[in-house]
Amino acid sequence: MIVARSLEDAGAPLNITLYEAHSSLRTPVVSAQGTHAQRRIVYCSVETQHGRGFGELATVEQPSWGDPSTNETVSYLIATAIPRLLEASKARGGGALASYLVGPLLGGSRIGNAAASLIEMALLDAELRCSSMNLASWLGVEHASVRRGATIGGASIAELEVAAYRALEAGAQRLRAKIDPERAFASGAALRNMAGDQIAVQLDANGSFDLSGSSIEILRSLEALDIACLEQPLIGADLAAMAQLHSLISIPLCLDETVASLRTITDVARYGAANAVCIKPVRFGGVRGAVAAIEQANAGHLSCFIGGMFESGLGRSLIQALAGLPSVDMVSDTAPADTYLEQDPCALTPSASGEPLLWSHLGVGPWPDEAQLTPIAVFSPG
Ligand SMILES: [Mg+2]
Repeated sequence: MIVARSLEDAGAPLNITLYEAHSSLRTPVVSAQGTHAQRRIVYCSVETQHGRGFGELATVEQPSWGDPSTNETVSYLIATAIPRLLEASKARGGGALASYLVGPLLGGSRIGNAAASLIEMALLDAELRCSSMNLASWLGVEHASVRRGATIGGASIAELEVAAYRALEAGAQRLRAKIDPERAFASGAALRNMAGDQIAVQLDANGSFDLSGSSIEILRSLEALDIACLEQPLIGADLAAMAQLHSLISIPLCLDETVASLRTITDVARYGAANAVCIKPVRFGGVRGAVAAIEQANAGHLSCFIGGMFESGLGRSLIQALAGLPSVDMVSDTAPADTYLEQDPCALTPSASGEPLLWSHLGVGPWPDEAQLTPIAVFSPG
């Protein structure tokens, strides 16, 4: 189904540097787990014998259930992941560290997968550039653009409506917003009202509901809003509880935080715990893991979309390319980074409205402007 072409190797790693940059969010995102107003953006640059590549870490500082924070992941990269990769390169006589080896070497745990996703992306970027290819062509994506999916924030219904208005003006074909039980119906109704009957509306509960009578009552009230799906109503890994909830309400359900392994995707399908899954490359060790997750969702007849984490332009280009795969049947988080970040280190010009164009130059996406980056750690082999 998905045919990835072979890549040139980028040669032995000479230098691995972690960088950070900071940006505020244009509209603070209020979820059931807290408010996000700032974004610490972490990049990795790998210089190799034949080239250079950049990756971006798609973690956040205060993650919801199960995910490592940016701080934890950076500490793990410095203390464990990068030294392990350099050891592996040394053990192979200082040879090339291929991007496809990173997942198997580092992945398996949530923090290992997050670390792997960053390094895989940097090495893949270098390999694609050495191979005169971009990510979309390597993945076999045939479209030049993807449907525009916006995730919008707002501390009040009025703010949410302003954000929805802007997203719709820019051509969003799907609106996705965070909810909690208190304002679930009001938020959903406001979005449906703004979106009309052609634009998909998705609500993300981030695990803020339970199986109580009052929760079920609120969730049933959402049935009137024709929402594309309700994301992660319950927190945790209890798929039996999720299947029970699924049988009690008629809105389509999607799982996000719960889904970080291929086995879980199979189990979601087997239990009938949801109709759809949100696939985040950071949870699956990067692009290859995300492609495997998409295939697993398809095999289980689950719908899927690629979930964003308010990445800058580089990380967003990876989400956009994956969103272009034909097996990703829902609208993904593809709106350009400058629609939610005040300062995107990767954006040279303001993004256009309408369907986002996939990165058509070499590599995974646009590199960050180094003048806006602060080095955190530098590693050299040997
Ligand atoms: Mg979510």
